[in-house]
Amino acid sequence: MNVQENIELLPYNTFGIKARAKYFTAIRSIADAQALIASDLFRKEKHIFLGGGSNILLTKDYDGLVVKVELQGKEVVQEDDDTVTLKVGAGENWHAFVMHCVAQDWGGVENLSLIPGTVGAAPMQNIGAYGVEIKKNILTVEGVEIGSGTVTSMSNEACRFGYRESIFKHEAKDKFLISSITLTLTKKNHAFNISYGAIEETLKQMGREKLSVKNISDAVIHIRQSKLPDPARVGNAGSFFKNPSIHADLHDFLKKRYPSLPSFPSTDSLVKIPAAWLIEQCGWKGKTFGAIGVHPLQPLVLVNYGGGEGEKIWQLAMDIQGSVKEKFDIILQPEVNVL
Ligand SMILES: Cc1cc2nc3c(=O)[nH]c(=O)nc-3n(C[C@H](O)[C@H](O)[C@H](O)COP(=O)(O)OP(=O)(O)OC[C@H]3O[C@@H](n4cnc5c(N)ncnc54)[C@H](O)[C@@H]3O)c2cc1C
Repeated sequence: MNVQENIELLPYNTFGIKARAKYFTAIRSIADAQALIASDLFRKEKHIFLGGGSNILLTKDYDGLVVKVELQGKEVVQEDDDTVTLKVGAGENWHAFVMHCVAQDWGGVENLSLIPGTVGAAPMQNIGAYGVEIKKNILTVEGVEIGSGTVTSMSNEACRFGYRESIFKHEAKDKFLISSITLTLTKKNHAFNISYGAIEETLKQMGREKLSVKNISDAVIHIRQSKLPDPARVGNAGSFFKNPSIHADLHDFLKKRYPSLPSFPSTDSLVKIPAAWLIEQCGWKGKTFGAIGVHPLQPLVLVNYGGGEGEKIWQLAMDIQGSVKEKFDIILQPEVNVL
């Protein structure tokens, strides 16, 4: 086990924040994970598992051990004429995995193309985009229990997936190291999801109206590249807040006051509101404050133009949250993990 001290985390977070970790190590196998968990250092120090760092905001130096999860591998564990089931290592790059599936014409994750980060973090917040969430395909999530070092497989149901939610963000937070996920994809009779209108429009513009795994993936990539900042050029962690679900009564009240209020059904009594609309209505879209700001095309994305501090981004997020609460009586919840 190679543990480094006082390591700069700038290369390990897509927000591009400078912060240092007291200790840093990487694990590449379950045996590495078990040895680490049994070590004195791990027991003594607080710790966090890290994938691609695309869903974290570092507000200060990390006074503990950062464990970068780098377990690799893709294995077909079951296959028939219609479906294929794969076990994929937590440290695999998510988008590279999606591209692998697209190249084989395996359907199910094409709408989740170009999401940054690792496979192991995908179940954490049940990644979702363009009408699809990963929970639809996940069979099991395997990992190591921190308390005992035991390797456990959790069923889809046990993961308690919800909108940007899972057990791993709550009871199992920092107590379960995800080592791999097992998921099922279709080989034929794909159930394409083009409920997000822009996909169909983009396919038309691209002159590729035939629905296929590849065409939908290409359309999603095209839409994402035109709307979202590339973290390699502008620091960000994607959507900073979740879309709030509000009670139907509050929705009806707000709709009278703001007739253009967009919404979509959530459950019987709840209505989901796009957080981006709420933030834009409060005047934040495109605002900059020194090195940081709110993205000019997508107000849900907070950005670091270079040299911005995590603490200041967090303060900006809290100011946005406060103004949305004041204007709409809605409390936005962060989607990003704040450290
Ligand atoms: C430009 C951009 C666009 C994005 N678009 C989307 C989108 O469309 N939909 C979406 O859902 N998300 C999106 N995201 C957010 C992010 O990419 C995803 O949440 C992604 O799954 C995070 O992966 P990661 O490996 O970078 O996780 P990290 O940021 O490294 O970690 C996130 C959390 O998971 C924990 N964790 C990571 N790996 C493990 C592990 N193996 N075991 C246990 N815990 C672990 C960490 O401790 C942390 O709490 C976007 C981000 C960016 C920058």
